Amino acid sequence: MSNIPPSQSPLSRPPPSSPNSRPMQATDPNQQIQRGPSPYQSTPLGPAQSGIRPNVPPAFRPGNFQQTPSGRPLSYPNQTAMSPTYQVMPANSTSPPAVENLESPSQRSDTPPSTSHKPKRLYPKEITEAYTESNTYGGQYQPFNPAVAPGGIGQQVQPPAIDQNAYQQPQFFTPAGDQNYQATAPSMTPAHYSQQYNTQQYNTQQYNTQQYNTQQPSMNASMGGLTNQLNNMNLGGHSQTQLINVNLIGVPPNVGDLDAPPPPINLPPNSSVTQSDKANCEPSYKRCTFNSVPATASLLSKSRLPFGLIITPYRSLKEGDEPVPVVTDTVIARCRRCRTYINPFVNFVEGGQKWRCNLCFLLNEVPSQFDWDLQTSQQANRWKRAELNHAVVEFVAPTEYMVRPPQPPVYLFVIDVSFPAVQSGAVATAAKTILESLDRIPNEENRTKVGFITVDTSLHFYSLNSNSSEPQMLVVSDLEDVFLPQPDDLLVNLTEARSVVESLLSRLGDMFKDTHTVGNALGSALLAGFKLISSIGGKIVVLQSSLPNIGPGQLKAREDSKALGTPKESALLQSAEPFYKKFAVDCSRSQVCVDMFLLGSQYSDVATLSCCPRYTGGQTYFYPAFNAGRSEDALKFAHEFAEFLASPIALEAVMRVRASKGLRMTSFYGNFFVRQTDLLALPNVSRDHSYAIEVSIEENITTPTVCFQTALLHTTCFGERRIRVLTLSLPVTNSISELYSSADQIAISTLLANKAVERSLSSKLEDARDALTNKLIDILGVYKSAITGSQGASPQLQTCENLKLLPLLALGLLKHVGLRASSQIPTDLRSYAMCLLTTMPSQLLIPYIHPRFYSLHNMPIDAGTYGPDGIIMPPSLNLSSEKLERHGAYLLEDGQNIFIWLGRQVVPQLCMDLLNVRSYEEVRSGKVTLLQLDNPFSQQVNAIIGKTRESRRGVYYPHLYIVKEDGGDPSLRLWFLSHIIEDRTDTVMSYQQWLGHLKDKVNSGSF
Ligand SMILES: [Zn+2]
Repeated sequence: MSNIPPSQSPLSRPPPSSPNSRPMQATDPNQQIQRGPSPYQSTPLGPAQSGIRPNVPPAFRPGNFQQTPSGRPLSYPNQTAMSPTYQVMPANSTSPPAVENLESPSQRSDTPPSTSHKPKRLYPKEITEAYTESNTYGGQYQPFNPAVAPGGIGQQVQPPAIDQNAYQQPQFFTPAGDQNYQATAPSMTPAHYSQQYNTQQYNTQQYNTQQYNTQQPSMNASMGGLTNQLNNMNLGGHSQTQLINVNLIGVPPNVGDLDAPPPPINLPPNSSVTQSDKANCEPSYKRCTFNSVPATASLLSKSRLPFGLIITPYRSLKEGDEPVPVVTDTVIARCRRCRTYINPFVNFVEGGQKWRCNLCFLLNEVPSQFDWDLQTSQQANRWKRAELNHAVVEFVAPTEYMVRPPQPPVYLFVIDVSFPAVQSGAVATAAKTILESLDRIPNEENRTKVGFITVDTSLHFYSLNSNSSEPQMLVVSDLEDVFLPQPDDLLVNLTEARSVVESLLSRLGDMFKDTHTVGNALGSALLAGFKLISSIGGKIVVLQSSLPNIGPGQLKAREDSKALGTPKESALLQSAEPFYKKFAVDCSRSQVCVDMFLLGSQYSDVATLSCCPRYTGGQTYFYPAFNAGRSEDALKFAHEFAEFLASPIALEAVMRVRASKGLRMTSFYGNFFVRQTDLLALPNVSRDHSYAIEVSIEENITTPTVCFQTALLHTTCFGERRIRVLTLSLPVTNSISELYSSADQIAISTLLANKAVERSLSSKLEDARDALTNKLIDILGVYKSAITGSQGASPQLQTCENLKLLPLLALGLLKHVGLRASSQIPTDLRSYAMCLLTTMPSQLLIPYIHPRFYSLHNMPIDAGTYGPDGIIMPPSLNLSSEKLERHGAYLLEDGQNIFIWLGRQVVPQLCMDLLNVRSYEEVRSGKVTLLQLDNPFSQQVNAIIGKTRESRRGVYYPHLYIVKEDGGDPSLRLWFLSHIIEDRTDTVMSYQQWLGHLKDKVNSGSF
């Protein structure tokens, strides 16, 4: 600790009686985990490491740090400016809890507000009466006017590896590659694409401008465009309920349909009490694996289709999206028996004085205030109430939904300041990003609190007294029995302490610049952070650049390259250390969420550290081989971190899904902790996180429709307790054909991705792949036998129109970096991919498993220009190397990375227009920031990339790589080609081979 004055001595710890001294021991981490067989078995650790263990190789040298992206010289006052304010802390100096007289965290967590509909304490009299049986306001009803609402395998292609030499190659983070990719790799176009380019004027056979194509119009592109147009004509037109048979073999999959909506939900007439077109749930909030629910368990079983819900309750609003309507009068009508919220699918009876619950069919009184406008004190029109018109609605919750006043947003930053963290520029970039984001952090009520802990082999706290202009650093070296230093201004109001917070952040990047301390005590820092905020709840934001290797939760660099691709690989994908899960469970009880930003230059043990976000509703972000000296690295991290800080969050949340009688929620996938069988605890609800829930049929369903209602009780950033309710009503069917014709291939793929990850962790990757393959065989086999009635061997493989992309998406999963068979994929990358596969909403997930692929050299003239709906995108191409023409330029993106592929005979003019170099030979491959050049082509491509980055939900800001067909980095080329999933590699089937394999299995099986 070169930055600590010699006089600084480790602080003594408080006496054992300190109420905060041992928060970890009263908990049982195994309690009520409902994730199926736990994948998070601990593996025995070796002897505890006794101290600081350098984990930085000799090649890791200071040097690039000065080139941080700030662009300004790092002239912050260094730590000597802080020295005068250092102080040695007295012993016995735990902070008092910030909020007194609250129920203990465990008491809180055991009494989920959404279900404990207890006698009201602070409830207005009228509303209390509204919940009672007697209806004293009955005479005020308008004449009852029921609204009539008619109709109302063995993939060897190389992933982005953590190259052991990455930090020795400052220019690019390049994925290593094994050399097994033989593939149908770029099928070379015939000789007529030879060098006859007129480089001054790109050829104009079909399009007037921007045609880099040479001899002839690309039939593929134009056919693709035509097909897409036809598809677009069909959008929304899936109104047929009849099955449409589709032959799969020999036909390229129509990837333009990946954006098509799911089959329509055909409810019986008058299902909804209003005629609102918002009465049923949008798929972006909640979708089911089929839009007709089987009436019996035997029909479900016979169909072999998975039954599940994909829920994204807190999705972001893009331009043009309608905000969720809010019911502000705190009149919340719920079923007395099953606690369902009143919704568009209930029935009003007895002159409108009662409503029949559409989940359990109990008759309930309509609340007396239901037809009353509190603001005007006049009768109101019931049929205008938002909860009867909108499937997605938010109620302002009265006090009975609170166990304490709404808590403020809290951001406690735990920042690794050991040598690798400082060296890579992570500390400076993080500090600068936080500083620049202070106005964007949710703080509408000026209640938001912030705090900072920096950690290497000691913990450093910062006293941020708003009356002081300078922050004070307080150092604690006792890592085993963590305590908080005395001042209680370690966690401060952001608005009041703004200047001292700014002062700290402007110095932080430079404060440790001369450190040589190698070693990190993340576990101790987390325990300290927990003590600091557990009485309020909030977010612990971890910025970690090295493997925690001392104190509680210390980890080893356990990656074993020999285990990759073998059954032993699964152990590496599981948590190495029970500390983090146990800590996360404690956090969940105290409404503390942990988000992990992992910026390690080496093995980071994503598998273990991601446990904290997984059980607390947070997220893991991973920046392998991060080096802020590369502007692309700094830009990506700063952008994503800033968006993360600016995102609205929901606090102190619980979520429950209720369903009609006979249906039961059985398995839950996503980042949360399961309490009380089916109550999901979410200390924070992250924006755009998705959750998958499997459903079983326990009893035969005798009603024409069923309903799923999700209730998310949460506190907004601006201090309001709210309940977001999402209601999805679906028809019931006894027909297997109807079941199949209503199946949603996007929802099915999303659920299967979640199940595959779960299986990989609880068993083996191979088992997960087999299970996925078998599920496809089952579904296609049932289709053949039960729906087409075909017997015996068939030369064709059929499915229905609405499931025709399911085999392609399954193949995408089998070839995905998270799941594919390979001995070359670093564990961290697999683990991170699994984090994404289980949290992304379908809108992000589908491109992640089936990237989007565009041709640039011959794109339509209006691609990349503004149209009525924003930037016009080129038509999507099939992920087949047949599309790769030698003179072509292509863009491929999966939401995490963007690649521009340049064929070896790309015309020089294109190189000039796009990259400002004279020829293909001068193009440098690797991670780049694309230039904005003064020509239409550059502007169009930049616009397409900009649209790609913006159109995805979530904070992700993909890297951009230039890939050359030859020359350049071979591993980068292989990484790119690993996304071309319709191709065959030497060990993995092509799409058509995959279909042939499925067909053989279907022909030989019995279904
Ligand atoms: Zn009910």
